[in-house]
Amino acid sequence: MRRHLDHPETSGMSWRVVGTLWPYLLAFKQRILWASLCLVLAKVASICLPFLLKYVVDALDRQGDVSVASLSEWWLAPLALVVAYGLARFLNVIFNELRDTLFGRVTEDTMRRIGLATFQHLHQLELDFHLNRRTGAVSRDMERGITAINSLMRFMVFNIIPTLVEVGIVVVLLLINYGWPFALTIFLSVTLYIAFSVYATEWRTRFVRKANLADSKSNARAIDSLLNYETVKYFTNEAYEANRYDQALLEWQQAKRQNRLSLFALNGGQALIVALGTTTMLAMAAMGVQEGSLTIGDFVLLNAFMMQIFIPLNFLGFVYREIKGSLASIEGLFALLQQPAKIADAEQAQELEVSQGGIEFVKLGFAYQTERKILHDIQLHIRPGEKLALVGPSGSGKSTLIKLLFRFYDPVSGSVRIDGQDIRHVTQHSLRAALGIVPQDTVLFNDSLRENIRYGQPGASDDEVLQAAKLAHLEGFLAQLPEGLDTQVGERGLKLSGGEKQRVAIARTILKNPRILVFDEATSSLDSRSEQAILAAIRAMSEGRTTLIIAHRLSTVVDADRIVVLQNGRVVEEGNHEALLAKNGMYQQLWQAQQHD
Ligand code: ATP
Repeated sequence: MRRHLDHPETSGMSWRVVGTLWPYLLAFKQRILWASLCLVLAKVASICLPFLLKYVVDALDRQGDVSVASLSEWWLAPLALVVAYGLARFLNVIFNELRDTLFGRVTEDTMRRIGLATFQHLHQLELDFHLNRRTGAVSRDMERGITAINSLMRFMVFNIIPTLVEVGIVVVLLLINYGWPFALTIFLSVTLYIAFSVYATEWRTRFVRKANLADSKSNARAIDSLLNYETVKYFTNEAYEANRYDQALLEWQQAKRQNRLSLFALNGGQALIVALGTTTMLAMAAMGVQEGSLTIGDFVLLNAFMMQIFIPLNFLGFVYREIKGSLASIEGLFALLQQPAKIADAEQAQELEVSQGGIEFVKLGFAYQTERKILHDIQLHIRPGEKLALVGPSGSGKSTLIKLLFRFYDPVSGSVRIDGQDIRHVTQHSLRAALGIVPQDTVLFNDSLRENIRYGQPGASDDEVLQAAKLAHLEGFLAQLPEGLDTQVGERGLKLSGGEKQRVAIARTILKNPRILVFDEATSSLDSRSEQAILAAIRAMSEGRTTLIIAHRLSTVVDADRIVVLQNGRVVEEGNHEALLAKNGMYQQLWQAQQHD
């Protein structure tokens, strides 16, 4: 499933992104005000520059003029003007720097807050999203989007509007000082320049998007391949993987090429307009000088103004391009942020109140895809404190039932109730806080054993962690480790054996201390001696707690209060071990088959 936008027609969305950023800016009104003041001062300094230059040139030009009284005055006036010119230049730079320094805090804060919001939102999204996501692409979308926020905010606030104002002021100054032909020429060239830049940038945004998409795709390929490192090695498919990655990179390269060529067209067009505008202005100025209506200083001033206008305008072209590029990058991020969570708390959701811990599956029906029903009319009441085992052939829907209990999915029909409360009407947080699970495949964080166990209750003391580790029969294992609980478990916990990981998961759940316990094949990776130890731990833990155990090996659940046999998503038998054996049904067959093994 595609999770980021790959349709080029999303410019409406682009500008909505800007609206979304607005509140983040408003949070820093004062700082932005100070930064804007610096900007105005920098602009004032920059507008003074051509005038100072003109006066310097004219003063120098007048040196031979007899009307100038003394030698000292000859030099003093131009020298003072040159100093003023240098000062204005310095002030221009320093105020621009000050502006950037002040505004940096605003962008960084926004980047942090949007990054956090995206991360939190990703955790809000349902399991299904995460099963479908491509980690590499998601991480790239986030990374690119967050970086783009920086350039977008900076440019929006400090470039577009100020540059347009500057152009306006220059046009007015030219109109007052030199008449309409000059003002009109500059106005026309600027208008043409802006129109062309906007049009050409719109046109090439699709190439930017394509390149972004290809970039995310190739990253997804690389990450997926690295996550499957061992599988790649087992099947000696390094070349195959490299080839697939190269295909993705090739796509990226082609998109980048189009991107580059379109940029060339844009820059070339802009340069042409600038050259035409400047030549016309200078030609007119040169004629004025020849006719004697303008001084050399005026010629220099007009040239300086042209440069001064087109440098920021050129920059504006760059900025507009960057903004469009940034918007295209941010879209991926915002598409993630706006992805609605399919499983969300009801508006009036209450906290789950567990008084006894009874679970009811009421006429429960479920399908991952509508065409294929997985659970049919499951009617099951697990009494408070009961130890119930779920058994049945692989694929019969046991783990699915647990996912519904945790509300990773909502049922298609019927309901799940805990102590009489429909779990759709309580908060997901309170629901999952009341449940503890030792899953089929335990995945650990790339951290120490201690922190992985503490994850069950982040505030637990070292002593409590150690106690939980002992109860989960990790003591012997810990004694063999030179670094004990501080041993790092590696990415996804791959440095531990399956059985060790399962015991860490048990220790975690012991620390969490939930009212309802679920063991999904918790002893599947253990040898019989460890299995006995774990079973003892499970027995102790489940004392007085409602416990659901999924088991393939029936020998591990003979002591359950009740055993429920699932087949093709239906409850086909239930009762205790002896009663089920006496029935001579599905359970008896499974039992027989396992006894033979
Ligand atoms: P096992 O004992 O092998 O773990 P199980 O009884 O726990 O099996 P489930 O994991 O509940 O079986 O799966 C029941 C069926 O649902 C399987 O056929 C599986 O292919 C399908 N299934 C599980 N998860 C998904 C999913 N996210 N999307 C689509 N189908 C799924």
